[in-house]
Amino acid sequence: MSLLSSSSLDFFSGLNDVLVLHDSEVTKFSTMKLSSQGTLIKVSTVDSLKDVIFHLREKGTAYRVIGWGANFILPENPDFVLIKLDLPFDKSLIKENQNRFYLPASAPLNVLTSLAQKFNFSGWEVFTGVPASLGGAIAMNAGTSLGEICELINYIDIMRSNGDIERHKVNESSFSYRTNHFLSEGDIIIAAEIFHKGKDPAVSELIKEYLRKRSESQPLREKTCGCMFKNLNFNVQNQTLTCRAGLYLDIMGMKGLSVGDMRISPKHANFMENRGRSGSEEVKKLVNKALSELELHYGVKFETEVHLP
Ligand SMILES: Cc1cc2nc3c(=O)[nH]c(=O)nc-3n(C[C@H](O)[C@H](O)[C@H](O)COP(=O)(O)OP(=O)(O)OC[C@H]3O[C@@H](n4cnc5c(N)ncnc54)[C@H](O)[C@@H]3O)c2cc1C
Repeated sequence: MSLLSSSSLDFFSGLNDVLVLHDSEVTKFSTMKLSSQGTLIKVSTVDSLKDVIFHLREKGTAYRVIGWGANFILPENPDFVLIKLDLPFDKSLIKENQNRFYLPASAPLNVLTSLAQKFNFSGWEVFTGVPASLGGAIAMNAGTSLGEICELINYIDIMRSNGDIERHKVNESSFSYRTNHFLSEGDIIIAAEIFHKGKDPAVSELIKEYLRKRSESQPLREKTCGCMFKNLNFNVQNQTLTCRAGLYLDIMGMKGLSVGDMRISPKHANFMENRGRSGSEEVKKLVNKALSELELHYGVKFETEVHLP
């Protein structure tokens, strides 16, 4: 059944800065390229975003915001509208001699990484190689072994589901591992102020080396959604021990295991690769297989880093 009535389609066609893909293939909007047919609304101004969410709320139509879809398992037929922000981002506004930048949620992280290399912005190495929009990275508290994006954010402007815009000043309880504690269902990050920690001539080389290591160990050319499972930390005799789901899957010989076109990456077992036209059902089956084998062999319950539909 269609998520948008013809009156809703008329309403959206009358809005500037809004583009609707109605009952269309939305496969290309996730990095895993999952087979999916749905409705996506692309919005390029904050005013139009407000109109869009007001209208959807009025009609009782569920929606979810999608960034690069790098951590998003798209259902085969989403029962919600996807909202994609396309707010203008001018990278020439990022100046070498400034240290705070107010950026739209749709700013791409890879562009920020290139600027960090160019200007040696210290701290920005933490999101090296993470495919994301700024909004998606903040929502997920994206990070690497070098740190997390939450260390670099002053405040976040959020459009609440009632259309109000609120500024969230980041504090120590705003984030934890790969999650945030300030968004409720229907809230949308529209912009944030990000800062760097000064200039360090080592940053450029650090980023280059980190990217080199990632491309050696991770299937970056395949269609994936990054790491599928969260690593688990245990405190044993005052020491933190990390259990790596990928390492355990590798030891169990599960690399290459497939369900349909979806397989556990032969390069890194915490990644799943879409080798063809797989959809979310294949992801779920493969994830459940991996989780039950991990629990059976190691007695450890891992969790997924992505939210499964
Ligand atoms: C090859 C590869 C490598 C990866 N490596 C890493 C890594 O090293 N570290 C890491 O942390 N992650 C990694 N990831 C996962 C992914 O890049 C991150 O989770 C990233 O933050 C997702 O950003 P996105 O813009 O694609 O968000 P999406 O995947 O589109 O969305 C993720 C979640 O954020 C919400 N969201 C998106 N935008 C907004 C917004 N504006 N307002 C409110 N909510 C929003 C969505 O509703 C969804 O719940 C990797 C992914 C891939 C494909």
